[in-house]
Amino acid sequence: MSQQLNNFDMVIFGATGDLAMRKLLPCLYQAHAAGLLHPQGRILGVSRSQFDTAQFLAKVETDSKIHVKKNFSEELWASFIARLQYLTVDVNTPEHFTELSKIVKARTETDNVIIYLSTAPKFFAPACKNLANVGLNADNVRIVLEKPLGTDLQSSQEINTDVAHYFQENQIYRIDHYLGKESLQNVLPLRFGNVFFEQVWNKDFVKSVQITIAEQLGVEERGEFYDITGALRDMVQNHIMQMLCFVAMEKPKSLDADDVRDEKLKVVAALKPMTSADVDKNVIRAQYTDSGSLKGYLQENNVPADSRTETYVAIRAEIDTPRWAGVPFYLRTGKRLAARSAEIVLNFKEQENGLFGANPNRLVISLQPDETISLKLYVKQVGSGLDVQATDMVLDMGKVSDDRRAEAYELLLREVIDGRLGLFNRRDELEKAWEWVMPILDNWAVSPIKPYGYAANSWGPKEAQDLLARDGNAWLEDQA
Ligand code: NAP
Repeated sequence: MSQQLNNFDMVIFGATGDLAMRKLLPCLYQAHAAGLLHPQGRILGVSRSQFDTAQFLAKVETDSKIHVKKNFSEELWASFIARLQYLTVDVNTPEHFTELSKIVKARTETDNVIIYLSTAPKFFAPACKNLANVGLNADNVRIVLEKPLGTDLQSSQEINTDVAHYFQENQIYRIDHYLGKESLQNVLPLRFGNVFFEQVWNKDFVKSVQITIAEQLGVEERGEFYDITGALRDMVQNHIMQMLCFVAMEKPKSLDADDVRDEKLKVVAALKPMTSADVDKNVIRAQYTDSGSLKGYLQENNVPADSRTETYVAIRAEIDTPRWAGVPFYLRTGKRLAARSAEIVLNFKEQENGLFGANPNRLVISLQPDETISLKLYVKQVGSGLDVQATDMVLDMGKVSDDRRAEAYELLLREVIDGRLGLFNRRDELEKAWEWVMPILDNWAVSPIKPYGYAANSWGPKEAQDLLARDGNAWLEDQA
């Protein structure tokens, strides 16, 4: 069972925004309802709106409460709400920070201060500067940065440099909510805490690795945002990169934050850099096209008719380390695909054993919609003789324990409150990941090759199947 967290003072910038209402406050409520928040822990919502606390609470009541899907009780909700307070702070108005600092510093029960910047990144620099001006960057202050942390290497470096003027790296918590997923974290104990897997987790036994994040939804009403973002920036540079790091990293010296992050950094640094010709050969970009009643991407609201933004990307990557040399890592993500899923697949090489054929085992670690680990094994067919058949041994992670499984954001908020950095991106990792994706963005900016099309509700373009077929491989849904 988890233990009560440290006493804390959390200031949420962007407290009236969608993320705070839909995720941050409901997740803090869950931690409260589970008895994990210190009784005196306090949450101060700040944003531009000229609300008083009562008006802010009225908004929380209408916009946030509906997002508490589990463990709700009016009594617990009332005691949670009692932790909340509101202050108008425009990030561009230094005087507002004087009042903020007075409120925070008036507390004597804790000096564990957390500032969560749940705002657009253009506000990070003025917010940090004004916080520093009133001393809210002292060693006891942690700052949490929401994604997106840049749209390319340069803008990411600029944001990091701006924040680094005022905060030390060990005060900075960069959010990637995939790192809050139990089933991604579980890859480390699975690999390094069991005798079976680590022996075969290398190029001698693994034929290929696939990492997929598939969405069934299209861009919905977010066409304008999505069109300047695209699948590569939205999913690959961050979430898929984290999944890749957990699968491919070497055993860290310890589970200390920096030992784990050092090993993740080595994976990203060992990704083979791509030339423009490599991008043409090894990267597939595509857009969904209309199918049945579903619109194509170019027909969506606020999407230019000549947009080249990818709603799908598939990449054949290689990691230049002794463990992985020559093993293809296929990374893909897309919208309007046939199913919603996030999974890691290790396809093992056929090992001829002389008795039962050359049967390729396969391990599938599913992060969503279900959290399962599934190992394809060959077992005796019922009846005479010893012919074998394939079957899946499935571990449902939801049934491993009766303990409540927290949502990713709740887990991450708890880590921040207790000052553990392991599940947050370090600057060097983040910038290395941008370095690796930049040749793809640069190639696409000038490439005469238009995005391929794939029918909405399918598994992506034919060209992405060809990418694997070239190596004698197939995506999971095309495998036996
Ligand atoms: P949003 O709904 O547009 O909210 C923006 C917030 O920023 C509002 O609270 C707004 O306050 C505040 N704000 C704007 N200008 C300000 C200023 N000058 N000074 C102080 N506060 C100011 O955005 P969001 O969806 O919550 O997203 C926030 C950030 O998280 C964005 O960078 C977004 O990309 C990222 N993010 C969001 C989600 C999500 O699901 N929503 C998921 C992942 C990441 P007022 O309303 O008072 O003006």
